[in-house]
Amino acid sequence: MARLLFLGGLGRSGTTLVERLLGELPGVCSLGEIVHLWQRDIRDDERCGCGSRFSGCTFWQRVGKAAFGGWHEVDVYRVKALQEAVERTRHIPRLASARLPDEHRALVEEYAGYYTAIYRAAAEVSGASVLVDSSKHSALAHCLRWSTDLDMRVVHVVRDPRGVAHSWTKKVSRPETDDAEEMTRYSPGRSAVLWNTHNAALGLLARRGVPVRRLRYEQFMADPRAGLLQLAGFAGLDVSTEDLAFLGESHADLRVGHSAAGNPMRFAVGRIPLRRDDTWVSSLPARQRRLVGAVCAPLLRAYGYPVRTKAGAR
Ligand SMILES: [Zn+2]
Repeated sequence: MARLLFLGGLGRSGTTLVERLLGELPGVCSLGEIVHLWQRDIRDDERCGCGSRFSGCTFWQRVGKAAFGGWHEVDVYRVKALQEAVERTRHIPRLASARLPDEHRALVEEYAGYYTAIYRAAAEVSGASVLVDSSKHSALAHCLRWSTDLDMRVVHVVRDPRGVAHSWTKKVSRPETDDAEEMTRYSPGRSAVLWNTHNAALGLLARRGVPVRRLRYEQFMADPRAGLLQLAGFAGLDVSTEDLAFLGESHADLRVGHSAAGNPMRFAVGRIPLRRDDTWVSSLPARQRRLVGAVCAPLLRAYGYPVRTKAGAR
């Protein structure tokens, strides 16, 4: 049975960095955001984290062969149709129930089966005992919960929603499209609503018996070494001090990875700085800061964040 560490949370919460650091641990293979693999990689042949086109990446070609007898055997339209039928945010209340109607359960299991085939094959090809999928979507985690041959543990990554909101307003191009496309942008109000929805949905997963570990981005960045050791323990990995030699005081040395899709940070190789991104404190207008704080107030309190913040202070 494949052991999966699923990174959940709203985008722009630091999941890509957490995923890359986890990928440096022995016994771990980071896969990127598998939720996007069907369209962006199999269909559109975008770039893998190693820089090659998906079709030219040896790792993913071996995984495709082991999982399906080759990617050409995967009916991407079927996967997308299943995704539409079972994996939308509006399906979460049903997915989170104790029982599913047989017909619906069959669809959920078929959909989850595509993912577990990839996890199993990636474990076989890489030799890793833990796979990391940073898909983030809470609805996908709820679907995977119904899989009977998957040991899934969820890392629920939370970041101050004002930092998240500020990040969603920025223009970021997508290097995998040779900068032809930009990443999605949201208004602060919209991102605040999404922050509530996705975080509440991940909380619900814990109440359904899935092992969930909450990780606050700000706390993790204050001491990445301690944070990684805790995550390794949660994943059932035995990690020694030497295994963390890639982590410096304020940097990490990253090797080439094979992240299938996600934030442009998945292409970073070599020394990268490890510092908390707090630009929102000075750059997010006060009116928007108040709006996001008000919309997210109940969960802000639950996670130990201040509801009100002053400009230039935390
Ligand atoms: Zn690759």
